[in-house]
Amino acid sequence: MPASGGLVEDLSTWAQDLPLRWLLVDEYTGDTDVAVAVCADVDGLFVAPEPLPEPERYTLVGCAPAGPLREALDAAPAPHDGPGDTEPRAWLPTVMLDPVHDPQRPAPHGCQRYDPGCSCSEELFDVEVLGHRPSAARDGLVDVEVRGRLRILPEMHWPLARPPDAQRFLLHGRENEPLGVCRSTTGIFHHRPYPTEQPVTLVGCRPEEPLLKLLRRRSFRKRHLQATVHAVDATGRAVRTYKVLSAVVTAATPSRLDPGLLDITLDGGFDEPFSDGAREIYDLWYAGRPSRRNLWAGYDRGLRHEWAGAALFHRPQDQPDRPPGRTYHLDGRFVTDIEGFYCAIGEAVNGPGGYFGWNLDAFDDCLRGGWGARRPFRLVWHHAEVARRNLVPGYDRPAYDLRSWHPAFTLDDLLGMFAEAGVTVEPR
Ligand SMILES: [Zn+2]
Repeated sequence: MPASGGLVEDLSTWAQDLPLRWLLVDEYTGDTDVAVAVCADVDGLFVAPEPLPEPERYTLVGCAPAGPLREALDAAPAPHDGPGDTEPRAWLPTVMLDPVHDPQRPAPHGCQRYDPGCSCSEELFDVEVLGHRPSAARDGLVDVEVRGRLRILPEMHWPLARPPDAQRFLLHGRENEPLGVCRSTTGIFHHRPYPTEQPVTLVGCRPEEPLLKLLRRRSFRKRHLQATVHAVDATGRAVRTYKVLSAVVTAATPSRLDPGLLDITLDGGFDEPFSDGAREIYDLWYAGRPSRRNLWAGYDRGLRHEWAGAALFHRPQDQPDRPPGRTYHLDGRFVTDIEGFYCAIGEAVNGPGGYFGWNLDAFDDCLRGGWGARRPFRLVWHHAEVARRNLVPGYDRPAYDLRSWHPAFTLDDLLGMFAEAGVTVEPR
């Protein structure tokens, strides 16, 4: 930190020729949105994805299993113990753990009641049942060894480092089917460090008045910046992305790109940056809307997801739906995964680079109108055999995102949603 003065002394000259592609908007401080900066690049906005963590071992201690968990244990030879003995015996997509708090005592700090359960609930997913043995907890109960993953949704809550105050845990599956009850667990509640955010640098940055004001502050604490990133295209049109920068400004120096601009460093940045491969998608949109279909076809699932996100951010606003009764044509040649479906349906309805949902909830929302097509409409699905071959029942483990590990969405699921929305699908 500079010992005296703020971070900025004189900003009288600005670059003229450098494309300033990222606009930062403060939507949080005042009543209205205020531009805080435009910059040529945001170092830390596009980041190579972290490798997925390994699955973990858990024990459900003092367990009275029921339903599919009991069936899984019946299929698993017992007793079972020791290292090396890790061949999966049976598998469950989800084991929810709902702690039963002592009704005589106040709810634990931070506990919010839901119906059923509460915010102390945890979800184990992609659970391999490794085996079980008689429990020391009580005769007739078993300790169940599993290998799986804990669903972590930081925007909901961070997993507790210590078990919640609970008399027991009710176990149930994804559709709320009972899986029994256990007394306690091991392996689930332990310290999990919150991921450290990588520092971000606003490169070639032209601060607007609110950021200038912030840069002049001497106190580190008062230089916290929270702003949403908007992508600016070559015509100067800015579209809002979902990326939010929230960090403290630590330094500002003349820019390496242009001495009339600043490079502004922050001590952290984005919870979920774009994947590094998505940069070329945003480069494409910078130059203008995609003019051809299927430019996403060569991408893997992660980048197809980024493609559909970019389509969402860039969708034209305030454009009325086309009237009902229209026929749309879906090019199904590249629908080898659910992400490919979202890309293809977006282009079927709204043309190259079009958007019509980027997850199942959003797609369902789009089907209801307001996103380009008023129902009822007709969809001719060309090369539907590609989706029929690929969107099949199973458990989906996309490599780019642990969050979307769940039972696969199948072609039949999609056809069911179309039918429910009054859309006639003609596979060809
Ligand atoms: Zn609770």
